[in-house]
Amino acid sequence: MPKSYDVIVIGLGGMGSATAYYLARRGKRVLGLEQHTPGHDQGSSHGRSRIIRQAYFEDAAYVPLLLRAYELWEQLEYDAGRQGELLTLTGGLMMGSPESKTVQGSTQSARAYGLPHELLTAADMHRRFPPLLPPTWMVALYEAKAGVLHPEETVLAHMQCAEQLGAELHFKEPVLQWEAAASGDRVAVTTGRATYEAERLVIAAGHGHCSAGRPWPAAGGGAAGVILVCATWRHRAVSAGALSALYLRRARWSATVWVPGNRRRRRRGQNIVLSAGWPLYARND
Ligand SMILES: Cc1cc2nc3c(=O)[nH]c(=O)nc-3n(C[C@H](O)[C@H](O)[C@H](O)COP(=O)(O)OP(=O)(O)OC[C@H]3O[C@@H](n4cnc5c(N)ncnc54)[C@H](O)[C@@H]3O)c2cc1C
Repeated sequence: MPKSYDVIVIGLGGMGSATAYYLARRGKRVLGLEQHTPGHDQGSSHGRSRIIRQAYFEDAAYVPLLLRAYELWEQLEYDAGRQGELLTLTGGLMMGSPESKTVQGSTQSARAYGLPHELLTAADMHRRFPPLLPPTWMVALYEAKAGVLHPEETVLAHMQCAEQLGAELHFKEPVLQWEAAASGDRVAVTTGRATYEAERLVIAAGHGHCSAGRPWPAAGGGAAGVILVCATWRHRAVSAGALSALYLRRARWSATVWVPGNRRRRRRGQNIVLSAGWPLYARND
């Protein structure tokens, strides 16, 4: 009889580790399966720093997620007993010509949500940050709340907190395949060591598995439950906490797909495989 869980999370990078934690916080029995060691350097969530900022030039629609992400990173620092160690606010400059998307978009986002910001001329920038010598036509939006996250540490903190809440995390255990369990209403996940079952499966296996636009690792046609292939590049590690929380709240009935071009679409249904990488792969049975 395979060991059974509420949710299995495949991949414990930035997305998967946050997902495991927030599920465990909600009292779910969670199994996390990772092919490498904790906080490894073989995926996308490593390299010592990841930028975080609020005045997203890409689209103002991100701002509520980012505000929530800041709250959750602060909460994570507290929960993991690592206050001031995961997120470092450095301030950030969004530089470009006055008409550029970087400057226009970030200003639009800042104004739409009343985010503290300053608009600087080239001379202002040089005065405030003497090593910078921008051309005279260049301007910038300065955002004091921009900063960096320390990705390896955030992944480890999420894992630590998930385990404290009873999540089972297995390392060096690559998933070989997932499919509908014999019962028809559960998902069966097979690794080199065992087969496990769960009501829900979250696939957070990283960019390599999304970008090819194919289901991974096997098309689990007919499997019950919402199945998410968490996004990587587009969703950004910095908002992993907020995004995971958002996804999981909706996971029973729907999921959110971020399609290329940053337009958000929602799909409803029981069996969904989503990838937010490029190109979009989505299937709704
Ligand atoms: C160079 C670079 C710079 C970046 N800069 C920024 C930035 O400044 N700000 C920002 O917000 N974002 C940035 N990003 C994006 C951000 O880092 C990623 O979006 C995020 O780390 C993705 O996390 P993930 O969990 O989806 O993927 P990953 O961290 O790759 O995690 C996927 C996990 O799944 C595991 N896995 C895969 N297959 C299996 C299997 N079969 N069985 C078990 N486990 C499996 C992998 O081992 C891995 O641990 C950057 C990315 C890169 C590469």
